[in-house]
Amino acid sequence: MPAAANNAYDAIIIGTGVAGLSTAMQLAARGKRVLALDRRGISSGATRQASGLLGQMRSTVASTRLLMDSIRTLQEIERLLGQQVYRQTGSIRVAQTPERATELRGHVEVARAAGLKVEFIDRDRATQLMPYLRTDDLLEIAWCPEDGYLNPPELAELYHEACKATAVHLRDFCPVTEIVVSGGSVQGVVAGGETFRAPVVVNASGAWSYLVAEQAKQPLPTAGIGHYYYTLAPVAEHPVDANSPTLRDRENLIYSRPAAGGLRVGIYELEPDQYDMESLPTDFEMSSLVPKADHPSVVELIEKSAVRFPFVRPDLPMTLHTGIMSFTPDGDPLLGEFAGIGGLYHCAGFGGHGVVQSPAIGLAMAELILDGTWRYNPDELEADRFFDMPQMRDRATVKARCAQVYADYYGKLSPPPAKR
Ligand SMILES: Cc1cc2nc3c(=O)[nH]c(=O)nc-3n(C[C@H](O)[C@H](O)[C@H](O)COP(=O)(O)OP(=O)(O)OC[C@H]3O[C@@H](n4cnc5c(N)ncnc54)[C@H](O)[C@@H]3O)c2cc1C
Repeated sequence: MPAAANNAYDAIIIGTGVAGLSTAMQLAARGKRVLALDRRGISSGATRQASGLLGQMRSTVASTRLLMDSIRTLQEIERLLGQQVYRQTGSIRVAQTPERATELRGHVEVARAAGLKVEFIDRDRATQLMPYLRTDDLLEIAWCPEDGYLNPPELAELYHEACKATAVHLRDFCPVTEIVVSGGSVQGVVAGGETFRAPVVVNASGAWSYLVAEQAKQPLPTAGIGHYYYTLAPVAEHPVDANSPTLRDRENLIYSRPAAGGLRVGIYELEPDQYDMESLPTDFEMSSLVPKADHPSVVELIEKSAVRFPFVRPDLPMTLHTGIMSFTPDGDPLLGEFAGIGGLYHCAGFGGHGVVQSPAIGLAMAELILDGTWRYNPDELEADRFFDMPQMRDRATVKARCAQVYADYYGKLSPPPAKR
């Protein structure tokens, strides 16, 4: 779409990751003229680095329903565009200690309460589904047939196609350096030396979101946390079918999915890397991060994955990947306005779930912006839910809290469903 006359739009989106593009697409689907800007290439942030697992089981009914909605919305977008990116392989969750078995039963209870299909299976069935999986130590195994995976750049491309077909104008290499505010309302942004006007601005800038919020003097409690995974080249004796399930093994802190004939395994380690985005160069590319084989997270990843996939050895040909997730102090995203500046919406802090959440988030953001309604429970999502906590304005506290949430994501046993 050509640029608007006088650089005036109905909405400006800062950031073209999955969150920004999905929101742009849904606003345009409702007839709005949208400008989506990125500091570097389109979808060159966490979205391009993501592993691509789409799992729907969460620890609360509300967050599980959001993810179920996401998968339905994604399949609807696929049908509309006539392109398929999602591979619905199903997923397996394993528990090898009595505590983890109790936890898994609790997760299944929540999933069933949300209406998600899930069943317990025995070791023989798990071996049938994933012949390369070690099962002899497993006490409980859950099978979720509607989960799956995709390649995140392909999802971004799907959104991109939908955006190009509607009233979304995309600008790459156009960093937003100022959010223009007047009379208590947002007026637009300055980006790449130009002024763009709109009554709605959406901060969908991922790990940079707290810096973008600072441009409007708003304290958004997000922090950048590193994450590692590897993609193992195909091993002749242990073929990984592209349709075999994804896996989550919380006790070992790992997850897996098939990838290009091989296996992709990632870790939610207990001591993650922490990033100050302001200390990175202005032309920083997330894809330029090169994981080192002797980094403690990588060493732990390979050790832990060999417990569940005994054929894995550090000398097998594999590609190491890393990227920066954007976490919040409670692990849920931050959506919507802060008091004081009308029209400035935040849409950030998706942790390790931004890809799977993005189809539903785009819909939810469009409804919030255009109708003022919340599609999902605002208590878990409202951007200003930390407003009354002065400690959440202190960067060191926010960083430490976000790193802890990341470490607890697999590392800490979930409480029983009644206590959630
Ligand atoms: C290694 C890794 C593995 C992951 N695996 C999974 C997974 O399996 N499943 C899953 O669901 N999620 C996964 N995630 C999380 C997921 O990738 C993110 O939650 C999601 O991509 C976030 O999307 P986003 O649009 O919020 O942010 P991003 O994709 O980071 O997009 C933000 C964009 O904003 C731009 N930007 C920043 N500042 C400015 C500015 N001033 N002006 C203009 N543009 C700006 C950036 O350049 C960037 O392109 C993973 C993440 C990582 C790093």
